[in-house]
Amino acid sequence: MSNSFMDEALAEARSAGERGEVPIGAVVVLDGAIVGRGGNRTREKNDITAHAEIEAIRAASGRLGQERLTGADLYVTLEPCAMCAAAISFARIRRVYYGAEDPKGGGVDHGGRFYAQPTCHHAPDVYSGISEGEAAAILRQFFRERREDD
Ligand SMILES: [Zn+2]
Repeated sequence: MSNSFMDEALAEARSAGERGEVPIGAVVVLDGAIVGRGGNRTREKNDITAHAEIEAIRAASGRLGQERLTGADLYVTLEPCAMCAAAISFARIRRVYYGAEDPKGGGVDHGGRFYAQPTCHHAPDVYSGISEGEAAAILRQFFRERREDD
């Protein structure tokens, strides 16, 4: 079931929030099994590229010993940004399932709409709004708590 994989991505998002990172999580699924998971680690790693999707793709590629993830699906709690949208394309991921939309920073259905560009050579199928309410609530709560800390 696709929703159970999104539940795993949501768990990664919550873990990221507990580490003080923006709570976004992702998992990569191949042949019905999770082969990579990741949450935001940009602060921990001092690495602006350590978004949840990139972390999950790195984990999956490392585990499978392959550069491309042809046939794999990626579940992520927030619409991917332009960088992650491109990485997903380069990895030849088949389908992207995302939770909440990101009108301010998304690069799939907002902003540059990477997959709709002629320079995009592999566009995954995109399914949005998966567990959207829960994904958005985790982000809202995180930013509300941070404001209260100020
Ligand atoms: Zn990203």
